[in-house]
Amino acid sequence: MGLHMQVIIALLLGIKRNGHIFIGLLLGILIGCFFPSEQYPKAYNVLNFVAQGFIDIIQMVVLPLVISAIIIGISNIGDSKQLTKFGSKMLLYYGIITLTAVSIAAGIAIVLQPGLNAKALVNPDVINNVQGFVADAIQYQKENLAQIFMDIIPKNPVTALAEGKMIPVIIFVSIFAIALTKAGEISRPLVSFFESVFAATMKVTDWIMYLAAPGIFALTATAVGNFGLAIFGNISKYALAITLALAIQFFVVYPLMLKIFSKVPVFRLLEAVSEAIMVAFGTASSSATLPLTITCCEKRGISNRVCSFVLPLGATLNMDGTAIMQVIAVIFLTQMYGVTLTPLLIFEIAALAIIASSTSAGIPGAGLITIALVLNGIGLTPEQLVLGFSLLFTIERFTDMMRTVCNVASDAVVAAIIADNENELNYELLTNSEGEAKA
Ligand code: ASP
Repeated sequence: MGLHMQVIIALLLGIKRNGHIFIGLLLGILIGCFFPSEQYPKAYNVLNFVAQGFIDIIQMVVLPLVISAIIIGISNIGDSKQLTKFGSKMLLYYGIITLTAVSIAAGIAIVLQPGLNAKALVNPDVINNVQGFVADAIQYQKENLAQIFMDIIPKNPVTALAEGKMIPVIIFVSIFAIALTKAGEISRPLVSFFESVFAATMKVTDWIMYLAAPGIFALTATAVGNFGLAIFGNISKYALAITLALAIQFFVVYPLMLKIFSKVPVFRLLEAVSEAIMVAFGTASSSATLPLTITCCEKRGISNRVCSFVLPLGATLNMDGTAIMQVIAVIFLTQMYGVTLTPLLIFEIAALAIIASSTSAGIPGAGLITIALVLNGIGLTPEQLVLGFSLLFTIERFTDMMRTVCNVASDAVVAAIIADNENELNYELLTNSEGEAKA
């Protein structure tokens, strides 16, 4: 069976197993298409309330989950040799996935040329709306380039925690967890405490998932109802370029990675995480999906040691879908303004997109903020950027939902590969879709 067929079968099996979420997703798209928010503001107030409530409720478990997962993940891995091995494998696979992503994105943007003649499509109303945002983003980025990197140092872990800043939190917790393992037996009570926190947050995640169908319905309906489908007419080539690049990443790159680096059956893994994939699409947030990604992977045999180390780090650092959007968006702007795309400039854009995407938070819209980093040095004036952004904005939510699917799926792919390589994968559970009942 061809690899892409395996992916399709996985998705169909996933839909069958999570029919209620899929129906929520489908109904949301239909309601959003046929009943736009402008015409039904009151109904959309209710939908917004449900959608926001669902996101907030999942967000509630993310911080305790990330902290406890990393602490038990690192302390379970134990000795520093093993940790270095896991860590370097994780960086290697995340690196390969992101490098492939930016190469595909650049290739597609160069061939399809989505930005050619795009200037004529700009809607003046949208320009007014995004003017402030873009001007601020560019200004901030120009003045604070060094600060962007300094911000990831957790100088006050409590403030970072309170503000939900994931990267500094993860850095602090990882250092703390390594120190705990070095401290030896004395740290056991604290690790046990975090094991209990982890078990409890997983339980809460299971309960939250009872709300997944209405939550995903409301999220999709509000997203589609707000942007409407008419916008695609204007910017269809840009939408097509992003969709194509993300589809290649999902249908070709992930299966190939699994096949080359492990013996994990493609369709088993994607079927196992299909619930997380649907929630990623609905929420457009890797962080909010993280509890579910961990649940899906653990229930289907990827060891807790791997899940709790690789997935939280991946949900924050591994953003291949975001990198794809950033490369295509920036090349789109260069084409729109006739900036010559030298090989060096393309390389620069791709390299900066790798950095910018990994500093993006796993929340909706984060990738369009850190894109300011990639825009540095392509030689456009702020006015030109405002104009370009006004086009990108029109379908931002749509591309966000799609790119988050890749961000989440690639975390699971890397976790599965590492688990396979390190004998941390229970194949019996993976190949048994009823596995979760036994787990
Ligand atoms: N929404 C994306 C995520 O959570 C990040 C982004 O590209 O905006 O993974």
